[in-house]
Amino acid sequence: MSENKRLKTNNPTPDSGESPLLNESILLLIFKSIKWDIHVLCLTASLNQKLRAIAERLLWRKLCTNRAPRMVNALSNGAPNSRINGGWNALGKLLFFCCGCESTRHFQLSQRLSGHFVKSSRFSKTSGRSFLPKKCRGDLLYVSDPCEHPLGDRDDDVGIFRGVFREFMKSKTRACLIRRQVEFAESVRCPYCGARVWSMTTAQLIPKSAARRLGTYDGGLEYFVCLYGHLHGTCWLVPLSSDEDRCDDEEGGNSGDDCDEGLADDDDNRTV
Ligand SMILES: [Zn+2]
Ligand SMILES: [Zn+2]
Repeated sequence: MSENKRLKTNNPTPDSGESPLLNESILLLIFKSIKWDIHVLCLTASLNQKLRAIAERLLWRKLCTNRAPRMVNALSNGAPNSRINGGWNALGKLLFFCCGCESTRHFQLSQRLSGHFVKSSRFSKTSGRSFLPKKCRGDLLYVSDPCEHPLGDRDDDVGIFRGVFREFMKSKTRACLIRRQVEFAESVRCPYCGARVWSMTTAQLIPKSAARRLGTYDGGLEYFVCLYGHLHGTCWLVPLSSDEDRCDDEEGGNSGDDCDEGLADDDDNRTV
């Protein structure tokens, strides 16, 4: 059924007694006027069962396509009205929510860091490529800049980052995890969809370029990828020295182009 037809069938008749808030055309106009505010969407979806269903079927997708159009277009292969791995609500949360972190097997912290909404984030597929081992470079992965969380007891800040694969089910990264028979991480779940996750540290699939991209040292990071291709991770952000402040790519080469493309992508995929 086309989207227009579906919208029509959900419109309440004047004497139906239903709230105008259940009229999808009105809802779309309201959210457009408030620039798809995620806080209002969360509140709306929590009001009742019907609004929750409308949010899951329509509003989360519209929020993603309106706030990050180019990124969503790439993730959905140019068909932004289709379904997406893990659901549009999970992608919406990933775009606007830093998940915080706590100690994991390979990344020890003295305290738990809470998650929080972010006003805007910059997602880059150039950055994402730094997180892919050489043999998986054909995959498309977007990764955000790290969100900086200072700790009282260390000089280094904690950086928390997140990302998402396109069509993870068909990706080389997933095939590699399956081929290596990597087990799911115990006691860690995807903060965006709740699915089980693989530790890329355990899988030994973290390339050196990931640490360099984040501005940390080799081994100073850990990240996880869930069954649906959502990525979340943490790193130590060490102060940059002049020789570290660069953007080359040891494994992929072609460093100049990589930097330029990243800047263009970053601007286009800022979720403001
Ligand atoms: Zn944060
Ligand atoms: Zn997930």
